[in-house]
Amino acid sequence: MAKIFCVANQKGGVGKTTTTVNLSAGLAKVGQRVLMVDLDPQGNATMGSGVDKRQLKLSVYDVLLESASIAEARVRSERLVEAGCSYDILGANRDLAGAEVELVDVERREKRLKEAIAAVDAEYDFVLIDCPPSLSMLTLNGLCAAHGVIVPMQCEYFALEGLSDLVNTIKQVHANLNKDLEIIGLLRVMFDPRITLQQQVSDQLKAHFGDKVFNTVIPRNVRLAEAPSYGLPGVAFDPAARGSQAFVDFAKEMVDRLGTLKPAAMPRAA
Ligand code: ADP
Ligand code: MG
Repeated sequence: MAKIFCVANQKGGVGKTTTTVNLSAGLAKVGQRVLMVDLDPQGNATMGSGVDKRQLKLSVYDVLLESASIAEARVRSERLVEAGCSYDILGANRDLAGAEVELVDVERREKRLKEAIAAVDAEYDFVLIDCPPSLSMLTLNGLCAAHGVIVPMQCEYFALEGLSDLVNTIKQVHANLNKDLEIIGLLRVMFDPRITLQQQVSDQLKAHFGDKVFNTVIPRNVRLAEAPSYGLPGVAFDPAARGSQAFVDFAKEMVDRLGTLKPAAMPRAA
């Protein structure tokens, strides 16, 4: 059974997509079988994995509307295969923006992704879902499908304030729709230790959330920002970069955490 995680935060530009594609690549690199689901109509995670969103024959949109299965719609990127960190991609493009409206009247509308993943669950160790920056029906599908939420955050002044909205939403989904859902952890991203305020907010986060804060810290690193324009996660584009190495460390931390918390999710023997 795959462990399924949403990468979510209502704020835009906080590093959700960067986290999703680099954690996917990092997990693949350490031998995990990964499906990455792009739930954002912007399709940045799709493009950032080397797949042209405009060329997709089938996408997550078709899966949500039940006109295709994930087995039919998923694709691979040759460039990720070459880089030795390949994962499967359920891509997204602007079609997905229409799904919101089209799902309004259908039954089980918030469970569509969950049901689709159940059919391919056994083929993966991890499913990572990149959410849009809102609490839309799309994000709700992600939260209903997941066992846990990974929250990337910048250690800035309003970071904690924004977090309380997300925590409340997750509590509501937990209570009403998905008993499995929990915040698996907060990931400090774009971190610059020279900035005193960032260090202070980081300390505050640890004081409030304890071991819900991941040990790995992702530094601000220009190679991570450059990688998407080459259609690759940083981990594949420049494996030696500090940011890339941090994401591989984060992948190992995820595998370790699941190993201790949930023994059933340990990677299986080949
Ligand atoms: P979101 O998906 O939350 O909107 P993105 O992952 O697209 O956020 O990141 C927003 C911008 O910040 C992008 O231009 C991305 O390349 C850049 N970025 C993300 N993480 C880092 C990092 N650790 N170091 C430098 N730039 C980063
Ligand atoms: Mg994004």
